[in-house]
Amino acid sequence: MLAPGAHAYCIANTCQLSSSKTPCTEDAITRCPVGGKPFFFVQHCLSYSVNVRGSGLLGLDYEGTVSLVSEAMSKWDDAQCTSGPCSARGFLFPAVTCDEIENNTSGPNANIWVFVDDWEGLDPEALAITTTHINPYTGEVYGSDVSVQSGALVVFSRERVVTILAHESGHVFGLGHSNNAISLMVEREGPGLAHDPTPDDLAGLCALHPPQPDDSACDPTPRHGFSPLCGEPVENCTCSTRGSKATPSVAAAALLLMVTWVRSRRRGRSVF
Ligand SMILES: [Zn+2]
Repeated sequence: MLAPGAHAYCIANTCQLSSSKTPCTEDAITRCPVGGKPFFFVQHCLSYSVNVRGSGLLGLDYEGTVSLVSEAMSKWDDAQCTSGPCSARGFLFPAVTCDEIENNTSGPNANIWVFVDDWEGLDPEALAITTTHINPYTGEVYGSDVSVQSGALVVFSRERVVTILAHESGHVFGLGHSNNAISLMVEREGPGLAHDPTPDDLAGLCALHPPQPDDSACDPTPRHGFSPLCGEPVENCTCSTRGSKATPSVAAAALLLMVTWVRSRRRGRSVF
């Protein structure tokens, strides 16, 4: 039972980065990790793109994978906050050929979903990994990329796969793991797991993406523009080098956040 006024959802926090100089402490009421900067978004409408290859192992072409991802992302649509409609929205952008988890600091980007048939080198116990690219000093979210382990999902029902992808979508929208055992955002999959965001999950979404005066003013275009390619050169750049990837600090922050979540998954059985 939670204390009055408490919530079970958690917003991801920069203290969770292994590179953080400020270790996390646990909030006495919510039990969420605190100590750094909570993630936040400047734009509440987020673009997402699906890799054009689809998934050979799942027998899905591009349209088939888009169907799964879009169904998962849309589970977070239409949330009603106390003061109006939630401003979080996902917008499907064109297919991408890029399958690298990267953040271009000076060139165009894409927030990709890539179904990985060859998971070698990645954590075998992770069914999917969301890597969020942030400013580690402020907590501003620049974008997220999601890798999905196709081979581990082959035996699952479509509903269960969509549930897993919806959980990752919650991370894309900035949520951390919930302390509510039946939450869609709970760290470990278990009996009674919600297939849809619970009211508490949606309260977390509202905290991150409160109603805005004019949703139509939101621009979902990724930072520095959209590109379906990896490492797109900077537009109008006279140099011949390819656009740089993330600066070391931001790249490390994103990667380490991913590792943190993967490690936490290992503590349980049948987790995602
Ligand atoms: Zn998770």
